[in-house]
Amino acid sequence: MRQKIVAGNWKMNNDLSATQDLLKDLKQQVFPEEVIVMVAPSFTNLYPAFETLREHPVEVIAQNMHQSKNGAFTGEVSASMLQSVGVNTVIIGHSERRAYFQESDAQLAEKVNTALENDMKVIFCVGEELADRNHGDHFEVIKAQLERGLFHIAEKSWKQIVVAYEPVWAIGTGETASPQQAQEMHAVIRETITEQYSKAVGQNLSILYGGSVKPTNAAEIFGKEDVDGGLIGGASLKASDFMAIVNAFS
Ligand code: PEP
Repeated sequence: MRQKIVAGNWKMNNDLSATQDLLKDLKQQVFPEEVIVMVAPSFTNLYPAFETLREHPVEVIAQNMHQSKNGAFTGEVSASMLQSVGVNTVIIGHSERRAYFQESDAQLAEKVNTALENDMKVIFCVGEELADRNHGDHFEVIKAQLERGLFHIAEKSWKQIVVAYEPVWAIGTGETASPQQAQEMHAVIRETITEQYSKAVGQNLSILYGGSVKPTNAAEIFGKEDVDGGLIGGASLKASDFMAIVNAFS
């Protein structure tokens, strides 16, 4: 049985007080046991979130981290720093990191290594641009991102990996991949990883969809065979919308 996961990526939103308000709202919700729920506040709000959710099933995760152990990397945060504030899962390769911070496939592969060495879990994001899809190159783009970012890892490390398929053209645009487009890509991702590693790795891997998921479209997307949950941006900033998305599994 694959894990069902819904993760909220709060991006660079919410100061401490707004974060506490959102956490307070989330704490009042009853979460279905069969879904793993995660939230990714900004770095400054990770520890307050961890403290607030200490006795709660929602996991606090990070949006990014640096690949080095420590050192002269002004403005960066390491794996051990994250772990010291209770964070054991990190999003790596979000398209905003790739595009606005020029994170290369090679750098992302290093980040993956660092996370694995520190026994952290990784939500590894892949996604094609609209031009790639219009040219019919979307499958090749995603396969290349998987190959360069993940195919160097050992088979046993895949239990620490979740893949998030997030078409760049659907992030924060209100434009969602159709459930069929999501299913088609998720099946290709699973097949590609199965071919490279094994049937067990492919079958046990949770693959999340991300890109303008809302309470109104979540159930149809999550209902697809190879969609194991979602990475949610905008709609995760309101507890009631986020909960409706989490509950879309049932
Ligand atoms: C995201 O940035 O991971 C995302 C899916 O954003 P949104 O839901 O706002 O499209």
